[in-house]
Amino acid sequence: MAERMPVESWLTDMDGVLMHEGIPIAGADAFIKRLRESGKPFLVLTNNSMYTPGDLHARLSRIGLDVPVQNIWTSALATAKFLDDQRPGGTAYVIGEAGLTTALHDHGYVLSDHRPDYVVLGETRTYSFEALTKAIRLIEKGARFIATNPDETGPSAAGPLPATGAVSALITKATGKDPYFVGKPNPLMMRAGLNQIGAHSESTAMIGDRMDTDILAGLEAGMETYLVLTGLTRADQVERFPYRPSHIADSIADLVELI
Ligand SMILES: [Mg+2]
Repeated sequence: MAERMPVESWLTDMDGVLMHEGIPIAGADAFIKRLRESGKPFLVLTNNSMYTPGDLHARLSRIGLDVPVQNIWTSALATAKFLDDQRPGGTAYVIGEAGLTTALHDHGYVLSDHRPDYVVLGETRTYSFEALTKAIRLIEKGARFIATNPDETGPSAAGPLPATGAVSALITKATGKDPYFVGKPNPLMMRAGLNQIGAHSESTAMIGDRMDTDILAGLEAGMETYLVLTGLTRADQVERFPYRPSHIADSIADLVELI
């Protein structure tokens, strides 16, 4: 295997790496502190499109993780950036929360249900039959179908919650149209994040707890990858995948020394 360049910048997933159901994972605070002191470019990523970077900053602060707003990168931000690149000043009918609507507004998008360019689906806890019906009819009439992330479920203390991937399947069944998913594992989300912090894939490492999103996305974007075992993937499951991470660590605590 070719020698990799030293790691100059870091991308890390949030859930299952830094925190788990609202509780910080041991070592996450030391990792973030070390990263900030190093001055190296970094991003904390999440496929959850519900929250704005400001919301997430506050949620992380409450559990002792001090991540600046500009170091948070969500699938909602990546989706808004993608649509702005594709069709600047466009219109969208959105099913989602402030994380998504704010990001689209910030890119000059107008939210409308009158012949929108796109139907954009993101995370929400208040899916309504009326909104889903509207989305289906707009897609039938030609609106392009975009979804922030393909996750079928999301974590909660009480058990899994249906997420964007599950709701998009309902719309797909009704329309026969698949969405374009912007979030992980689409390398688009990683590349846009790298651009955001002025980093390059060949000198960047991606840390995650899921093989099929974090590790795959890092791999496809040309980064070094670290799988941590504090989230969804167990050590004995890794070899079942047709690709492997560059490294496996018990937890984020083991990576502090690498910065
Ligand atoms: Mg995760």
